[in-house]
Parts: sequence; structure tokens; C-alpha cells
Amino acid sequence: MSVLVYVESEEGKIKKSSREAVSFAKALADKFNDSVTAVALGTIDAAELSGLGKNGARKVLHDSESEFDKGRISPVASALAKASEQESASIVVLPKSSLSDAAAAKLSVKISAALGTNLVELPDTSDGFKIKRSIFTGKAFKFERLLADKKVLTLKKGAAEIMETGSEAQVESFTSGISDADKDIAILETEKAEGDILLPEAELVVSGGRGMKGPENWGMLEDLAKTLGAATGCSKPVSDMEWRPHHEHVGQTGVKVSPDLYIAVGISGAIQHLAGVNSSKNIVVINKDSEAPFFKAADYGIVGDAFEVIPKLTEAIKAAK
Ligand SMILES: Cc1cc2nc3c(=O)[nH]c(=O)nc-3n(C[C@H](O)[C@H](O)[C@H](O)COP(=O)(O)OP(=O)(O)OC[C@H]3O[C@@H](n4cnc5c(N)ncnc54)[C@H](O)[C@@H]3O)c2cc1C
Repeated sequence: MSVLVYVESEEGKIKKSSREAVSFAKALADKFNDSVTAVALGTIDAAELSGLGKNGARKVLHDSESEFDKGRISPVASALAKASEQESASIVVLPKSSLSDAAAAKLSVKISAALGTNLVELPDTSDGFKIKRSIFTGKAFKFERLLADKKVLTLKKGAAEIMETGSEAQVESFTSGISDADKDIAILETEKAEGDILLPEAELVVSGGRGMKGPENWGMLEDLAKTLGAATGCSKPVSDMEWRPHHEHVGQTGVKVSPDLYIAVGISGAIQHLAGVNSSKNIVVINKDSEAPFFKAADYGIVGDAFEVIPKLTEAIKAAK
């Protein structure tokens, strides 16, 4: 079974979630003694494209048409349909994102494939094609068998380890031929979040809640984040009260993060917040209330006043560097 994987980029760089998708696709292709072809669309650095070989892609099809930089859904679905036909691919893997989720749905209709979304592990192919999906924003799993010959799969962020062992991929130019019918939405304006480290892709996140008392106290968290090289996040009430910008709001109704380390300071751990962080590899909770629900989801916890703990933690990290 030939496996195709769509890779997303941001300012010319391949996203971490896409490298995870390529590694996942490689592990899946190995089950069928087949190889992985990645599809990259838009303006992307050449070294980034060939570097996908290290993550498991043998070949990369690249359409450099700048139209793809606009984030439209239909052109991506059409390009993937064309690539899957060209490569006779029976499985197409996409990383989880709002664009990929929508493109996967359109693609599955275009190529008459079964759609499996938000996979958390490799499918079990010992008896058909059984998948395990994360549902209800990470609170439950669902097992399904995909019966159609062709499959379109989206991968939950953080569900696959990034492989770094392969050699460079062979990059081929690809013409997907976007039609006017694909330009079904006119993009009026795109507002991008500012900041050196963008929250959805961050490896380390320092997040603050209402326990921080007010925006004037955020310098303390920014100092910790800067020391660690982390992005900053917050709970919903914090952004609702405009202590922090809305693009930092983490949770069910905000940004979903899957960093290696999530440090939650003065956040109670409501289910709506946990829904956005439950893919984090390590969770550290700092809260003065030992009964705060967040401690149940934590790998490490510090019961203490943030205003005493954070400066000491920052100093200790600086000293250890
Ligand atoms: C439909 C819906 C969607 C929602 N979506 C989201 C979402 O996406 N993201 C989200 O975050 N919330 C969301 N919420 C809100 C959510 O239910 C909680 O109200 C919110 O997460 C609580 O934020 P908080 O933990 O910052 O504040 P609080 O619940 O007020 O908790 C503050 C915490 O800080 C601790 N604290 C106080 N002082 C200190 C100190 N000095 N040092 C250390 N700790 C201290 C307290 O012990 C407490 O645990 C949603 C709610 C609804 C109904």
C-alpha cells in the first residue's frame, strides 16, 4: 500500500506536526514494505524539503505555487487528490490542523476514501484496518475499522515520535493545477499571532491563570519562559479579561498545545483547559491549593504561592545553565 503524506509549513519551515505525520506515515508504510511520498505546497525552503527524508519520506512532490500560501482548503484537497492518483496511493496521512481537517474531509469525498480523524497510534493491520481515535477533545478513545480500499487519516498532534534517522529525500516538482473552482473562498485578510515562539508549535510552554492576579504580574512568567526558551499561554478568563492576548488562550475553545513540557501556574485545571493540554508529554503544575484538579493531570506538582515559587525556579534554571 503506497502512503502519501501532506506536510504543512510556516514561513518556509516544515511544521513539527508535519514531521510527526511523515514519521507516522513511514512506520505505516513499513508494515506494507512500501515507501512514503510527501506532498509539500507553497513557498518552502529547499533544505526543509530534502530534510523530510530524515523523517522517513523517500520522495517529496513540491508545487511551489504561491496560491498555496494563502491557506485555502480546496486547492490543498485538489492537489492531494491529484498526487494520490499520480502515485497510486491507497493511504493519505495529514497532520492535525484546522486546514488539514477540512482538506481531509474534502479529499476523502474526492477520492472515495474512508476518513479516520485524530489518530493516536498506528492502525492495527493484523485483521483489516483498525484505528484508534481521540474523541471528545481527548477525554475518550474510539476504535473503528476502515473498510474502503482507500483511507485518509489525520494524526493527533504529539501522537508520533519524530524519526531523525533517514537520508535526504528526492525532491520533484509537481504541478497540481489549481482551478478557479478551487478558489471558492476569497481571503480578505490574515492576522498572524506575534512572538518569537508560536504557541501551537512550541516545545515548551509556560502558562498562567487567574491565580496570577493581574497582567502586571506576567513579567515573572515571561522571565521564566525566556529563561527556558518557552512560549507563553494562559487560561480563558485571563484572555477574556484582556490580561493577555486571545491567541495565548489555551484549551477547548483556544489553542491546543502538545509541547514536551507544559508549566501551568495558578490555573485550576478545569476540563475545558485540560482539553487543550492533554497531549503534552510532561505537565508541571504550580498552585497554592493542593486540592486543585490540575494536580491529577500533572506529572510533577509544586504546592506553593506562584509569587514565591516562580522567581526561585527561574533563578535555579539560570544557575543550572
Ligand atoms: C464552554 C466553555 C469553554 C471553555 N473553554 C476554556 C478554554 O478553552 N480554556 C480555559 O482555560 N478555560 C475554558 N473555560 C473556562 C474554564 O471552565 C475555567 O473557568 C477556567 O479554565 C478557569 O481559569 P483559571 O484556572 O485561570 O481560574 P480559576 O478557576 O479562578 O483558578 C485559579 C487557580 O489559581 C490558584 N491560585 C490562586 N492564587 C495563587 C497563587 N498565588 N499561587 C498559585 N496558585 C494560585 C487557585 O488555587 C486556583 O486553582 C471554558 C468554559 C466553558 C463553559
